[in-house]
Amino acid sequence: MPAPADSPEPNEAHKTNTPNATCESCGAPAAGVDDLVPVHRVYVTPAAWDTEHTEEKVEVVDEVERWCFPCRTLYPHQEVEAT
Ligand SMILES: [Zn+2]
Repeated sequence: MPAPADSPEPNEAHKTNTPNATCESCGAPAAGVDDLVPVHRVYVTPAAWDTEHTEEKVEVVDEVERWCFPCRTLYPHQEVEAT
């Protein structure tokens, strides 16, 4: 067939039919696999106001979860760097 003006992107083949297309944070079904992004959940503990420790504590979880867009908007996280 004729080559389209917009050739497919190289990462087109990267898209797979992942059976589990649900957000692992809220459990909502994602519109598509592309809607989910692998992230590390981040727990943020606000700085204590009754001690000298005035910096908030940030804990990044090792486990990778796939989150939908709303969750990535609402909750602290760290996107998994592409390798
Ligand atoms: Zn979600």
